[in-house]
Amino acid sequence: MSETSRRVAIVGAGIGGLTLAIALRDRGVPVEVFEQASELREVGAAVALAANGTRLLERLGLGDELAAVSTEPTELIYRHWRDGRRIAAHPVGSPYRDRFGAPFYGLHRVELQRILGAAWGDDGLHLDTRLVGLREQPDGLRLEFSSGRIAEADLVVGADGVHSAVRSWVVGDEEALYSGTSGFRGLAPIERLPSLPDPHAVQFWMGPGAHLLHYAIGGGGVINFLAVVDGPRRWPHDSWMGRAEPGEHLAAFDGWHPAVTEMLGAVPMSPRWGLFARPPLRHWSRGGSVLLGDAAHAMLPHHGQGANQTIEDAIALAACVTAAGAGRLDEGLARYQSQRRARTRLVQRASWAASDTLHLPDGPDADRRDRALADLPDALAWIHGYDEEQARCPATDDHPAARYA
Ligand SMILES: Cc1cc2nc3c(=O)[nH]c(=O)nc-3n(C[C@H](O)[C@H](O)[C@H](O)COP(=O)(O)OP(=O)(O)OC[C@H]3O[C@@H](n4cnc5c(N)ncnc54)[C@H](O)[C@@H]3O)c2cc1C
Repeated sequence: MSETSRRVAIVGAGIGGLTLAIALRDRGVPVEVFEQASELREVGAAVALAANGTRLLERLGLGDELAAVSTEPTELIYRHWRDGRRIAAHPVGSPYRDRFGAPFYGLHRVELQRILGAAWGDDGLHLDTRLVGLREQPDGLRLEFSSGRIAEADLVVGADGVHSAVRSWVVGDEEALYSGTSGFRGLAPIERLPSLPDPHAVQFWMGPGAHLLHYAIGGGGVINFLAVVDGPRRWPHDSWMGRAEPGEHLAAFDGWHPAVTEMLGAVPMSPRWGLFARPPLRHWSRGGSVLLGDAAHAMLPHHGQGANQTIEDAIALAACVTAAGAGRLDEGLARYQSQRRARTRLVQRASWAASDTLHLPDGPDADRRDRALADLPDALAWIHGYDEEQARCPATDDHPAARYA
């Protein structure tokens, strides 16, 4: 089977699916993309892209489009929940780019989806096409869609997000882990936030049992925020998003700095999001099917890495599948898993641990954390400074990250 005759089906036209489609097309591999939604319109608020993601999107030729719709933060600041003092501050902008080799951006998710969708185009994109079944056949895999449509492929990529249907096929039904924390999200117009210092910085406000993260998007006129609180102890809803009682989000931040309460009060009632992660999977592929992005490693948002790790996955998978050569798909998929599983597991673990650290009450533990935040750029270098393309799809056990697996 030559590269050009390999039939590749990507399920899901989100951040990972589209990035992979573009990267495979650049390598001469034809792809079909199947998306359940009737249009490419990502719901949700904003997304922060770090250098480990932006360097890869820039190499796909998307740098100018991204820069045009993104806001580059001035600083990364950690603040005390009540008095708002700057506990730690690190410049972003050009010092960040100099250090990590690519920019840090905040942008609306719909803009990222639009840029990826425009770069891919309409050819080979099938909207309104929801995967409901996968079957092995003697000569590949058969995909079944809710419309009754059938497709066949040698490689099926599950880029179908956190509730992936392809993951059920690859690993069976795995329970998600509830973190014991939940969040409220929103977009606040900057003119509603008179008490907010440094509005164009990425800022964490840290306090007992809760934190608030925010950054600017939309040219700096809008602040995207995620407010995270401890509890409820057990998630009471079937879905990961539940109704919140009026004022519930504000009550959790009673006594916090006015910049925080203004932000929470500036948006209409937000639902409460249960924060879940998927336990690391032992394997990412089964025969000719493979997972990437949230389907493989949904993580807590506290390092802002879900989308960035997904972009890394897509570039790695495109490289491994094409490097494996004719008829050696298994080898390519094994290399991809080896390259990505250890790293994403570490980022998942760090994101899980971050929540506790951000929620410490005032006291000696918080003081120790505050001192450690002074060295944050060094501590983040393994995430933001990473270049997936330098990993170059090594032989299965050779990759440096394999020692963490
Ligand atoms: C509000 C919010 C803010 C976030 N902020 C950040 C951030 O700042 N930084 C960061 O790095 N990450 C962030 N994340 C996480 C990030 O968005 C995800 O990790 C990332 O989108 C995962 O990409 P993906 O391609 O795996 O899945 P998605 O982007 O979710 O795409 C999955 C696609 O598959 C489609 N699909 C699902 N099931 C089927 C099916 N059966 N058949 C066909 N199609 C299907 C879906 O419709 C969707 O289009 C945020 C997430 C949310 C919700």
